[in-house]
Amino acid sequence: MLEKEQTVTDRILIRGGTVLTQDDELGELPNTDILIEDDRIAAVGKDLSADGAQVIDAAGDVVIPGFIDTHRHTWETSIRTCAPDFALITYFADILDKFAPAYRAEDVHAANQWGALECANGGITTLVDWSHIMNTPDHADAAVHGLQDAGIRSVFAFGFPNTSLQDWWFGPDYGGSVERINGEEARRVRSQYLSDDHGLITMALATRGTNFCKPDVVRFEWELAKELGINITVHVAMDRFGYTKGQLTALRDMDLLYPNTTYIHSSHLTDDEWALVRDSGGNVSLSPQIELQMGHGWAPAQKASSLGIPVGLSSDVATTSSTDQFTQMHAIFASERARRHEASWNEGLDGNVATPDLITVRQVLRWATIEGAMVAGIADRTGSITLGKKADIVIIDGGAVNVAPIIDPVAAVVCAADISNVQTVIVDGRIVKADGKLVASLDGPRRSVEASRDYLVSKVDPQPGWLVATPATPA
Ligand SMILES: [Zn+2]
Repeated sequence: MLEKEQTVTDRILIRGGTVLTQDDELGELPNTDILIEDDRIAAVGKDLSADGAQVIDAAGDVVIPGFIDTHRHTWETSIRTCAPDFALITYFADILDKFAPAYRAEDVHAANQWGALECANGGITTLVDWSHIMNTPDHADAAVHGLQDAGIRSVFAFGFPNTSLQDWWFGPDYGGSVERINGEEARRVRSQYLSDDHGLITMALATRGTNFCKPDVVRFEWELAKELGINITVHVAMDRFGYTKGQLTALRDMDLLYPNTTYIHSSHLTDDEWALVRDSGGNVSLSPQIELQMGHGWAPAQKASSLGIPVGLSSDVATTSSTDQFTQMHAIFASERARRHEASWNEGLDGNVATPDLITVRQVLRWATIEGAMVAGIADRTGSITLGKKADIVIIDGGAVNVAPIIDPVAAVVCAADISNVQTVIVDGRIVKADGKLVASLDGPRRSVEASRDYLVSKVDPQPGWLVATPATPA
């Protein structure tokens, strides 16, 4: 009996869905089965034998690889939508100066667990957690435990502490130690929790880079990443902080253009800098909803793609926008097409001719999945429905009132679907959402994150309209 149960739980057959594999060789497959054995995709094809497997009927539904969120400050989940009307400059001053120093380790745990559960619910099977809340070793432990407790795939990007006005995004690097990221702590987290580069949670380094740190701090952090054998993720070319200062050029001059580095936002890179990203094997993480809303600039996905640079989508901050992947897909599809339409209008194109070179829904779905996995540095194991890859799979309800009837299944996912249509989510071969409902109980995590919210709000006391407070001064 036990053996039978184990057999059932170790094998899952997804039957008869329209499978958008995001695998260049397999393509888009109607009426196709997927067999999962343990944590792996064991077969993709027609009429596969169930052979004792748990069967999930996906007839009429659309099956995709799980979404990849390539950059989110997950610790801010506790203060979701506290800053809806913020611009980037007021975000720096108020979220990072006022809220972050008040965070206790338990707030980081509550936020990370809740944020990662939110990902699972929305079909995001991999989250890159950009964790610049490493205020104490307990905070680091809590961040990792929060991700572990939620059970999704993640890349924990270890960052710097944010403990006071003197110790945040801009503050301390002019006269302080080079160890703004605590090297000893980074090494401890790497060896204690994240030494397995093929584990469910892997490690990266979350750095500020050349516009926000003096050169010896930058060099220390880049060399720390090299020593630990992990990728770097860094914000560049956003709003006025990055518009004129040439962060990529500075990295080149310091000989620090490492391959597989993620350049977040990248809204104002020059053509020369785009070439540096491409030639050094870098990639970009774009947060279109936040970039448009808060003033970072445009989300230059079409530019990156035209150069062959992998594009990942990301939600960035829950303080100011919704953080699901459907929002990002809608925002980038609309904004990148709007820019082309406007350019075409300005070029005086004949009114009876459609704007050329518009991005497509198929590009957008790639950015949300397989290219996101490239950006996260784990495309060898996730991001597509490919034989032998980890089973990170999402089933979209094709019969839902806002999805049916389906003509183009890619358009159904990118243009019509939303979180409510995420019917089944599988991470690493485990079902984490079934029949539209998370398997994990939300009661305890919700109580924790609401208690965290109460505590943090009591410390900061945000009032309606507080967003007009002090702008930060760029370094
Ligand atoms: Zn960010």
